[in-house]
Amino acid sequence: MVGRLIKVNVILFGPPGAGKGTQAKHLVRQLNNFQISTGDMLRNEIQNNTEIGKKIVEDMSDGRFVSDQIVNSLIEKVIFDPGMKNKLIFDGYPRSLIQAKNLEKLLNKTNQKIDAVFFLNVNKETIIKRIEQRKTIENRSDDDLNTFVKRYDKYMKTTKPVLDFYSKNSNFYELDGGSKIEEITAKINTFLNV
Ligand code: AMP
Repeated sequence: MVGRLIKVNVILFGPPGAGKGTQAKHLVRQLNNFQISTGDMLRNEIQNNTEIGKKIVEDMSDGRFVSDQIVNSLIEKVIFDPGMKNKLIFDGYPRSLIQAKNLEKLLNKTNQKIDAVFFLNVNKETIIKRIEQRKTIENRSDDDLNTFVKRYDKYMKTTKPVLDFYSKNSNFYELDGGSKIEEITAKINTFLNV
């Protein structure tokens, strides 16, 4: 069955392993929108051995952030793509205050806005269990435990403060990221009224 076409820009926010990608895929299926995962975009650059790919391979495999400049250049293309306008499901972006401010600027330039921010709040222990499962399924090299701890620390230091940028707005929703996937999906659907 083809999903309904609903124009909405959404940010899925939370620590690595919180289930942002899973919820993004549900929304994309349901709304015919686009999953904007900077992680996937960056892995793509590495796979295609592009100039960007060569620059970021070490940072990525070590769990470090790729520079805001590179991330912003990839995101810009997406936001200025007329076919994707108001159909953006951000997964793993923005990850720093600079990225959040840049996103705001680009959205303003293209007469767009964020319609909802969903914060999947989940504790470190739960994520560790999930990452060990995901590692087996997806064979992701950046997901061993040591790398996760680095990524989690980076999230706490650089990404979590971005919440202040969004949490005062009426379209900000905090969800228990430790609950079942279907329960989270149902809550997101209710908030989006879909
Ligand atoms: P993800 O698939 O979202 O978990 O991202 C995997 C890795 O890609 C991260 O650990 C970072 O090295 C890099 N990455 C993804 N998104 C961003 C971003 N918005 N800013 C900086 N680095 C990113």
